[in-house]
Amino acid sequence: MKKELIFLGPPACGKGTQTNLLAEHFGYPHIDTGSLLRAEIASGSENGSIAKQFIDKGQLVPVWLVGEIIKNRLSQEDCKKGFILDGFPRSLEQAEMLEEIREHIDGDEEVDFRATYFDIEIDELVSRIVNRRSCPKCGEIYNLKSKSPKNEGKCDVCGTELTQRKDDNEETAHARFDTYFRETAPLIEYYKSKNELSSIDAKGTIDEVWERLLKVVE
Ligand code: AMP
Repeated sequence: MKKELIFLGPPACGKGTQTNLLAEHFGYPHIDTGSLLRAEIASGSENGSIAKQFIDKGQLVPVWLVGEIIKNRLSQEDCKKGFILDGFPRSLEQAEMLEEIREHIDGDEEVDFRATYFDIEIDELVSRIVNRRSCPKCGEIYNLKSKSPKNEGKCDVCGTELTQRKDDNEETAHARFDTYFRETAPLIEYYKSKNELSSIDAKGTIDEVWERLLKVVE
């Protein structure tokens, strides 16, 4: 049965790293709204410049904008076999929007739909955010403290110069946590009440979390 998997958890809880691995594992597209929005900004489009104003403040981009992007992406051919959604939905309104989109793309087909919550204390996450670097070419994620690249500043996978996201600074990080608790955390109860939620302990090494994740999604 095809899977449609979504993920909840605070900023820098490790979702990006794990969902990238998962997409590779299942051969599904990895759809990450943060990256799609950053690509929109890089393209110089009007929607990109609107999105930038919200991202720079650590707030959610308006639902009409992110909804348009996600609707287009989920309607593409490669999503018919299943998908991994990282960073969407992030509010109750977006969760309802996702249900509508899924009704449209799945029809009567039986689907294994599941939300996985990355359960982690937030104490160390701001430090994770400010030490995070990523490869603009292949998307590989590093941390200067816990997963530094072998050659300073260069991606281990493709050798590209690593970059730091503009919103990965301390001030915006705090705003992103506020947004998370206000808008996104209520989704944990929402999916629990629909019997669609699994939780994993997201503390530990990448390998440890990966083993726990596989147990709940396979
Ligand atoms: P992320 O890469 O997931 O940390 O997202 C970076 C930023 O993009 C967030 O702080 C939001 O401003 C914006 N963003 C990403 N996903 C969404 C979404 N589903 N709804 C609204 N804004 C989003």
